[in-house]
Amino acid sequence: MNNEKPLSSDEALILLSKRYPELTVLTDCVNSEEYEKERLVFNRKFDFRPAAIILVTKTEQVQTIVELANNATFDLTVKSGGHDHEGECSATDSWQINFREMNSVLPTLDGIKIEKDYKIKKEQDGLRVTIGPGARFNQIKPVLDEHNLGIPHGTCKTVGIAGYTMGGGWGPWTRKYGMACEYLVGATIVLGDGQCLQLTENDTDTNKQQLLWALRGGGGLSYGIVTELIFKPFVLPFIAFSFTIDAHRFFPGVDTVTIIEFWEDIVKEGKNPSLIGTNLKIEAQHVQTNEDRTPDAELKCSMNGYFGGTFLELVEAIIAWSRLLNKNNQLEAEKLTSWIKDKANKAITVISHILPEGETLTPEILRDNWPFNWDTTHDLNLDPDCPAPHKLTSRLANPEWDDTSRKALVRSLQSPLLPTFDEGNNNGEQFKFQTFITLGAIAGNFYESHDDSTDRVSSAFPYKKQLFTVQYQAWWNQPTRVENECDECEECDETGGIEEKRVNRKFSNRVQDWIETCRDFDIPHTGGAFISFKDASIPTERYFSQNYQDLIDVKVDHSEDPKILFKSRKTIL
Ligand SMILES: Cc1cc2nc3c(=O)[nH]c(=O)nc-3n(C[C@H](O)[C@H](O)[C@H](O)COP(=O)(O)OP(=O)(O)OC[C@H]3O[C@@H](n4cnc5c(N)ncnc54)[C@H](O)[C@@H]3O)c2cc1C
Repeated sequence: MNNEKPLSSDEALILLSKRYPELTVLTDCVNSEEYEKERLVFNRKFDFRPAAIILVTKTEQVQTIVELANNATFDLTVKSGGHDHEGECSATDSWQINFREMNSVLPTLDGIKIEKDYKIKKEQDGLRVTIGPGARFNQIKPVLDEHNLGIPHGTCKTVGIAGYTMGGGWGPWTRKYGMACEYLVGATIVLGDGQCLQLTENDTDTNKQQLLWALRGGGGLSYGIVTELIFKPFVLPFIAFSFTIDAHRFFPGVDTVTIIEFWEDIVKEGKNPSLIGTNLKIEAQHVQTNEDRTPDAELKCSMNGYFGGTFLELVEAIIAWSRLLNKNNQLEAEKLTSWIKDKANKAITVISHILPEGETLTPEILRDNWPFNWDTTHDLNLDPDCPAPHKLTSRLANPEWDDTSRKALVRSLQSPLLPTFDEGNNNGEQFKFQTFITLGAIAGNFYESHDDSTDRVSSAFPYKKQLFTVQYQAWWNQPTRVENECDECEECDETGGIEEKRVNRKFSNRVQDWIETCRDFDIPHTGGAFISFKDASIPTERYFSQNYQDLIDVKVDHSEDPKILFKSRKTIL
């Protein structure tokens, strides 16, 4: 046993800065604007003050920090994009390894950097993109777009690649392309003793293979600190559109259970291969008492999706989908088409698109074929979500999911705990509450034809056969304790609306109580939970299901971390 006295945080910082005089370390001292900004996490419910925020620029520095931590008293935390829903990338008094500066994105073909503006036309084995853990989607996507390449990104532009991928990585690409973790083919990782390993898909070393397997969806931080991620990108579809259908406007008077069933019909295995990915958002609603919950409620819903096909094919698909809902009121074909056209311009928005080089969507095509709302953004775009306090929980729909499940789900979305519309539960107005669920489709071409046993290294994402994720969310605003302009979207100002936000204090406990009731709500044929939609109160095993014990084994046998330095409430140990 080592009897040397452990280093204090201050002593270790002196050693670190002697070794790397160029390294930027932000500490908690008066008037340190950069420290005040960098210590924030996306979920503003949490307010941590790390002892040191170390803006690393090289793997070697991470190795030294881990070596020091082995003989010191402070805890380590690791932040890439800072979007963990439980704020697990930071902690008061910890040393935070911060990857803000390691955010490069390098696409290569057969190991050679792809030239600027060169468009890749077809899939090739040698395509790779090497990404620094601190890169966010608004930094990654433009570089990949330039070369006509993609990886299955999420919906929000400021989420970090490291946490997203290790959590699985669900997105509007998942039906056709699977989760992002399926594309991780290599990584550089620093283990608990400070040694650095290069992991590649073709490695014959089984220890390394198992580490790579665990990084693919086995959750952040547990197995080591990742300083570089290598993906195999895909070539972007020749043509694609992103769209939103406001279902309550497009199908007025249709109850939510029917709309959910309609959406499930569309996403089912074998159906609509052109629908690249989709989610259904359903807003929650105040009721006076629990007895007032009804399975017949008509809640506000919108279906979002990516569609890989021509504009006319999208129109045809929407007409075909409408028929699914029309089967009860039997409008004949001609009337149905004019009914759809009538509703569509209020309810359907085509948001962005990819078109073959040199082609544009002419106003004639748009006007003659469909009265969609139209936004001319090229490239499939990302959401500019803004930091705010929030709480979520999640589960997944099992293949047996049925009408009893839908009805229970709709009942769970009505609660006396929620503020009324006038009290601020209005899902959209600035400074107020948003309480809703999103159902994120997993079922589709990718996992339908995917056979884990034929993969050289499969992924630890355990829910490949589930139909969709069910993510309950409650968001609100509160007066900020720090003066900070939003650095995520460059649009909102966190310091504004102090008086309006103060009113929210009355209800912010209640919307979190609602999330607690949803976690335990009896919804038949659901189970599990998705680690990227982290809720600290869910037992860890539930996140990893059949892979739980194997992931513990990887941690114990291969992460070289007997002191369990890599730890948060939801790491595997
Ligand atoms: C607004 C918003 C939208 C979202 N949308 C989606 C979505 O569409 N799809 C989806 O799947 N998820 C989504 N998420 C969830 C998101 O993917 C996870 O919260 C993810 O963990 C965030 O990654 P990060 O790097 O930004 O977070 P961080 O908070 O930096 O890290 C998350 C976890 O990973 C660990 N970690 C971070 N970097 C490293 C590293 N380099 N090595 C080892 N461990 C590390 C951290 O310690 C922490 O435990 C969303 C989250 C938010 C807030």
